[in-house]
Amino acid sequence: MSKIVIVGCGVVGAAIAYELSLVSSLENLDITVLEAQSQVGQVSTKAALGVLMGACGGSKTKNEALSTLRLASLLRFESLVPELEAKTGIKIPYNCHGILLLFQDLEDADQLETAAKWQELISDRGSQGFYMKWLEPDLLRSQYPHLQATAAVHSFADRSIHPSCLMQALVKGAELNGVKFICDRPVHNLSELDQLEADWIIVTAGLGSRALMQPELKKDILTSVGGQAIKAYLPDLNLKNVIYGDDTNIIPIGQDQYWIGATVEFKRLTLPRNENIDLLMQTAIKFCPAFAQAQILSTWAGDRPRPRTQGAPILGYVPNRPNTLIATGHYRNGILMAPVTAQVIKDLILEGKCDLPWQKQQLKS
Ligand SMILES: Cc1cc2nc3c(=O)[nH]c(=O)nc-3n(C[C@H](O)[C@H](O)[C@H](O)COP(=O)(O)OP(=O)(O)OC[C@H]3O[C@@H](n4cnc5c(N)ncnc54)[C@H](O)[C@@H]3O)c2cc1C
Repeated sequence: MSKIVIVGCGVVGAAIAYELSLVSSLENLDITVLEAQSQVGQVSTKAALGVLMGACGGSKTKNEALSTLRLASLLRFESLVPELEAKTGIKIPYNCHGILLLFQDLEDADQLETAAKWQELISDRGSQGFYMKWLEPDLLRSQYPHLQATAAVHSFADRSIHPSCLMQALVKGAELNGVKFICDRPVHNLSELDQLEADWIIVTAGLGSRALMQPELKKDILTSVGGQAIKAYLPDLNLKNVIYGDDTNIIPIGQDQYWIGATVEFKRLTLPRNENIDLLMQTAIKFCPAFAQAQILSTWAGDRPRPRTQGAPILGYVPNRPNTLIATGHYRNGILMAPVTAQVIKDLILEGKCDLPWQKQQLKS
């Protein structure tokens, strides 16, 4: 019997617990998840919008390894969602209409350059089996008369998912497979876990991982980046796709309601900040003028765990602790990357290696 202790239960800890639970009988695994709060999934994961920019999100980075991980995660969602729904009976809202990325003012030289870059990505993704299409102004106007943009990219393979429903289903699925979840159980330092005699410890404590790593590495590995979002009501728009423009998403969630977000706030200020909520709304109106009539139902804020000295996420072995793994710092893509993170951690535990290109994400000591 191999004893595995997972520290922290947001989407990353839950996805790892579920993935490992699928082989727990076969591999004789005893898995326990320790969560500091009275309920799982109440920190970063609770604030997330669930946009899964796996195919189109790679436009800003030439990091091939990261793109491969994102695409692998996106693919895993296609089987994970029906698998979890069938196992747990929990309905997980999963939008398969793709993401529509909107551009305004394309006559700018800068914007033309952007358009050329997108054409390159569209061709790359096409050859990888992820269909994306460039929509010229005429086509855009005729297909989406309620939107305002000079051009767009439709990324058909990208998705959005309801993070809290996903979270619930991962936990229930893992529980049904024998994983134990213990809430109100903060871990103050890793040596405290020695008495549990675990074969593997996996740190998935989000921003709480900073404190857990400091005695090990004597440095702060994470910073938090705030984000605010809006839930709005707008009847009769019938938007199906996720809309993305100026770094803001509009996500249809059914019953004429939409999530709009999220801001990216590096300065440590107490959120919410009303001026940024106004900015979000203005961006939504800029790309879809009908939002001028929308009613704001609620707003919320949360913090994202972002690595301080390396690219997101942090994934792999904790230096000087051969049986401790860490999976955190997923920054703006923790929901997207939870499934592939779980795959990498599972492979490292069971095989001692993983064929996915996770190495660049290792924690630097
Ligand atoms: C406004 C906003 C919008 C976002 N939108 C998206 C999006 O559209 N798509 C996307 O992919 N990502 C999005 N994200 C990012 C995403 O939410 C995060 O990357 C992801 O939730 C991180 O998950 P996690 O499990 O690592 O951390 P968390 O969800 O923070 O979970 C960590 C858990 O560990 C627990 N913990 C902490 N310390 C300890 C300890 N010492 N002992 C025991 N337990 C501990 C915490 O209580 C918590 O439950 C968004 C984030 C924000 C804030």
